Amino acid sequence: MNSADSRVRLPRLSTRIAAIAESATLKVDAKAKALQAEGKHVISYAAGEPNFATPEHIVEAAVVAARDPKNHRYTPAAGLPDLREAIAQKTLRDSGTHVTASQVIVTNGGKQAVYQSFAAIVDDGDEVILPTPYWTTYPEAVKLAGGVPVDVFAGADQGYLVTVDQLEAARTARTKVLLFVSPSNPTGAVYSEEQTRAIGEWALEHGIWVITDEIYQNLVYDGVKAVSITQAVPELLDTAILVNGVAKTYAMTGWRVGWMVAPADVTKAASNLQSHLSSNVSNISQRAALAALTGPQDSVETMRQAFDARRKTIVAELNTIPGVVTPTPQGAFYVYPDVTGLLGREWGGVTPTTSLELADLILDQAEVATVPGEAFGPSGYLRLSYALGDDALLEGVHRLQRLFA
Ligand code: GLU
Repeated sequence: MNSADSRVRLPRLSTRIAAIAESATLKVDAKAKALQAEGKHVISYAAGEPNFATPEHIVEAAVVAARDPKNHRYTPAAGLPDLREAIAQKTLRDSGTHVTASQVIVTNGGKQAVYQSFAAIVDDGDEVILPTPYWTTYPEAVKLAGGVPVDVFAGADQGYLVTVDQLEAARTARTKVLLFVSPSNPTGAVYSEEQTRAIGEWALEHGIWVITDEIYQNLVYDGVKAVSITQAVPELLDTAILVNGVAKTYAMTGWRVGWMVAPADVTKAASNLQSHLSSNVSNISQRAALAALTGPQDSVETMRQAFDARRKTIVAELNTIPGVVTPTPQGAFYVYPDVTGLLGREWGGVTPTTSLELADLILDQAEVATVPGEAFGPSGYLRLSYALGDDALLEGVHRLQRLFA
């Protein structure tokens, strides 16, 4: 026996990382972009990515920042002091919650904030309640932190909004965290102030942490307001982490600036983690984010109105397709139709039985990219982002109408 044979055979990949699935939203988006690069006229409703250019004054701030050598250096891992202060002000303005700059960590997009939030407070075996449909990254981030995702499903019949009774039924002695997101990705559902307060009070009563993802808080329609759970229940602030970022509100997905706002001990722990993981976010991007938060906000309203018009169009057009039931969302830029009426029927020689198969069929036969419900929980749904341009949006739904005529 040579020495190589006597070695203990350990798995090549760690079990924890091997168990992580690729981000389904980014996967479909990449596939659509690859097909487009091949010359195919694919219409993509896949990624939640505004089609607008980042507003000019923000870009200008980045150009100026790039020319200033002080931005060519490291800054504190938790971010530029001015930006942390601006984020504290924004949290007061939009989330109605008083926090200090020292509670803020600037992260590489909202996604890093989600991961670090779970990593900072979840221990092996801790349960995290995920209202379902959930954004595809949440359960993977929970598992990376050693936690156990516990799905609580709310379908179209209940407006994709979970109730306190459902949360209570899922609560166990190991429940550590509730993930709360309103407006929701993937459904666009927005909890009312009363519902938000009831859920916050339930979490407070049982000592359950709340990680609240507020990245879509500025994208609400029909006069609705997304009330922050820490505004509705201020006593929660000691056991809550707010996650947010500039990506969706300011058309800045590629700049990678998000943040988390947490109690001091959690901020310290997460900041320690970030100091080893990624250090500071690009200073150029941080300066751009500072300009976004402190500069004129009129472009935010212009984009919001454009999304609102697209929302009305896509809901109306999808609801002309027999077998497709599309509730009207009041926030974010997604629709989440129930497509069970299209399953088990033959379309162009293919009979899909799941929304995964349906999404493949739609991409193959109509060159339209959607994300199947399986990425967000149970089968039977599709997520379509309406953050794409008006002409493409209409062309895509017309293709679906022809395919399922
Ligand atoms: N959050 C967006 C989405 O859900 C961007 C893609 C991603 O990071 O998942 O489409």
